Amino acid sequence: FGRSSTIGICVATNVTSAHEKLKEVTELLDDVAIVPAELMSLAQWMSSYYHHPLGEVLATVLPAAARKGAACTIELDDYWQVTAAAFDNPRAHAQQGLFDYLEEHGPCAGEALVAAGHKRQTLRNLVKAGAAQQCAAPVSTPTEVPPQPTPAQAQAIDTIIGSLEGFHAYLLEGVTGSGKTEVYLRAIAPVVAGGGQVLVLVPEIALTPQTLGRFQRRFSGVGMLHSNLTDHERLQTWLKCAAGDLAILIGTRSAVFTPFRQLGLIIVDEEHDASYKQQEGLRYSARDLATKRARDHDIPIVLGSATPSLESLYNVARQRYTKLSLPFRAGNADMPSYHLIDMRGQQHTDGISTPLERVIRKHLAASGQVLVFLNRRGYAPSLLCAACGWVAQCSDCDARLTLHNTPRQLVCHHCSLRFEVPDACEACGLHSLMPVGLGTQRTEAGLTQLFPEVPVYRIDRDTTRSNRRLEEQFAKVNSGRPCIMVGTQMLAKGHHFPNVTLVAVLNADAGFLSPDFRAPERTAQLIVQVAGRAGRAERPGEVWIQSYQPDNPTLRRLIEEGYPGFAEAELAARISAAMPPAHPMAMLRAESNDAQAALGLLNQFKQQLRGVELLGPVPAPLARIANRSRYQLMLLAQTRSQLHQALNQLQPPKLPHTLRWSIDV
Ligand code: ADP
Ligand code: ZN
Ligand code: ZN
Repeated sequence: FGRSSTIGICVATNVTSAHEKLKEVTELLDDVAIVPAELMSLAQWMSSYYHHPLGEVLATVLPAAARKGAACTIELDDYWQVTAAAFDNPRAHAQQGLFDYLEEHGPCAGEALVAAGHKRQTLRNLVKAGAAQQCAAPVSTPTEVPPQPTPAQAQAIDTIIGSLEGFHAYLLEGVTGSGKTEVYLRAIAPVVAGGGQVLVLVPEIALTPQTLGRFQRRFSGVGMLHSNLTDHERLQTWLKCAAGDLAILIGTRSAVFTPFRQLGLIIVDEEHDASYKQQEGLRYSARDLATKRARDHDIPIVLGSATPSLESLYNVARQRYTKLSLPFRAGNADMPSYHLIDMRGQQHTDGISTPLERVIRKHLAASGQVLVFLNRRGYAPSLLCAACGWVAQCSDCDARLTLHNTPRQLVCHHCSLRFEVPDACEACGLHSLMPVGLGTQRTEAGLTQLFPEVPVYRIDRDTTRSNRRLEEQFAKVNSGRPCIMVGTQMLAKGHHFPNVTLVAVLNADAGFLSPDFRAPERTAQLIVQVAGRAGRAERPGEVWIQSYQPDNPTLRRLIEEGYPGFAEAELAARISAAMPPAHPMAMLRAESNDAQAALGLLNQFKQQLRGVELLGPVPAPLARIANRSRYQLMLLAQTRSQLHQALNQLQPPKLPHTLRWSIDV
C-alpha cells in the first residue's frame, strides 16, 4: 500500500474487483488457513450482527502475534532433560553441576533450574555439548478428591451430563457459595474423559491463581488466556487449543475466539458480569458469542450466576434455556440475613452511622471480620466551596473532580487528569473549601479512627495496581484475625473469605439513581454479590445496608424477596417499557472535539433510518470527556430483523479523523 507492505487476511480467492490497479500478493505467510472455517463463519456472522467491518472483526478474533505475521507453530515448552549421552567433565564445573542436577531430578522447567542457581548460559552450553535437550512438560497428575455433591448439585450435574450430545443452554442459578464450580468440574469430567475440550469463560477479575488451581487440582491439560500474557504466550495457547493439546481453556472475554479441535462443552461463570461486554471498537458480548458457538458446534453451554442477567432469565421464561437451581449453600453455611439502616437524620463518622458502628463492634468482638463496601475510590467525590457553592471541575470533562488524599490531589475519574488541590476557592478566593461525599479513602480514615485496635485494609484500584498486591492483601485477611476491609467492587467478585461475618453496604442509593436503564440490575447484582461474601463458613453472616431512600421499592424488594423477586419485577418493567431483553435496541454514538459535527452526523443518520423508533440524538450522560463532545441516538425495534434492516440502511459519509462514531447492538 503506497510504498509500504502490509499483512492482510485473504478470505476468498475466486473474486472479481471493481478496482483496476490491484497489486499482486507478495508473499503467502501461512501454509494452512490461520482462521479455521468455524471462526471464519463466526467472524462473518459478527460482522453482520454488530455491523462492523470484517477486517476489524478478524483483527479482534485473531491473536495479536498471528496478526503481525508470527509463525503459527507450537513450540516446545521451556523444559529440559539429560540426553542418553554421558557427561563427565569435572573441569567444566558449572555444566557438570547442572548435568548432575538434571540427572537426579528428571525433566525440569528452565525457570526451576535458574531458581536452583544454574545459569541459562550453562544450559545452552550443555545442550551444545549434546548432554541436555528440550522436552515436553511432564503431565501433572490431578490430586484432589472431589466432595460428595449436594442433592441440588447432583441434580444439576446429572441433567447436564445427560445431554452432552447436542445444543442445550442451561442457566445455573446458584446462590453465592452454593458450589457452582463443583457442578462445572463434574460436568467437565466426562467430556474430557471422552477426548473432548472445554472452554471456561470467567470475568476479568476472577481469573486468579486460585481459580486456575481449582481446575488444575482436578484435571491435567488446563490452559489459561488473559490480558497479562505476552502476545507470544497467547498465540501458543491458541495454537495448542486448535491442535487439541489442551483439554480445558480458562479465559476472559476474548478467549471466546479460541479455535478448538473437539469442543464438547462451554461454561460461562458469572454470566451477568459486565466484563463480558467489550465496550469499545467491536462491541461484542462474549456471553452471547459463547451461546452462538455452542449452537454452531451443537454442544451444551452452562451459564452460571448467583444473579443472572435479565437477558438469560428472559430466555428461561421463553423456554429457550433450562434453569438449574442451587438454592442453598454447600457445606454448613446459611445465607446471611439482611438489615436496612434508615440514614435520614442519622449521625455518622465518615459514612459510618451510629447503628452500623455498634454492629461492627459486635462482630469484631466475636472475632469476626468485617467487609465495608463503597463503590467509589478516592477521599471525596467533590470539593465544594461552603461560601459560594463553587465545585472543582475537570477542565476537559463535564465532570467533578474527586479529591484524593494519598497522594493529595484532585483526580478526574473519566480522563485521569490530575490537578493540585487549591488552598482557596477559585471563584470567591475564600478558604472555605470542603470535601463533600464519601470515597474509600475517607471511609478508611473514619474506620481507623473508630476502630484503632484492628487493621483496616483498603482494597480498590489505587491500592492494588497489580494482581500480586491484591493477593498479598487477601493473604493477610485470610490469616483469619479480626480486621476490616473497605473497598470497591473488587471485593464483590468470587472471593472466599471464610471469616467475614459482616458485610456493610454504605451507600446503596447511588447506583439506583443512575440514568442507565441497566443501572438497577447492575446495582442489585453488586449488592447481592458483595453480600454473598458474608458468612461463607460456619458462623452465620449479616448484611447491613445504609440508605437515604429506605422506601425505594426496588431496594425493598431486593431485601425482602432476594434477587429472584427483584429480577422478576425488573424484567416485567423492561417488558412493559419495550426495552431489552424484550425488544432489541441499538445505540449509535458519535464523538468529536466539534460538538456540532458529532450532533450533525447523528441527525444525518436519523434521516437514513426507517422502520424503527428513534430517541435522540441527545448528549450522552457524560456529555464531554477529554474535551470531546459525545452524543447518542437510540434505536428501538419490534424485532431483530427490523433492527438489522434499519442499521443496514446507514450510509456513513466521508468523515474527518476527529469525528468518531460507533454502533452498539
Ligand atoms: P459458588 O461458586 O457457587 O459461589 P463455590 O463453588 O465457590 O460456590 O463453593 C463454595 C464452597 O463450598 C467452596 O469452598 C467449595 O469447596 C465448597 N463446596 C462446594 N460443593 C461442596 C459439596 N458438595 N460439599 C462440601 N463442600 C462443597
Ligand atoms: Zn467560593
Ligand atoms: Zn477529565
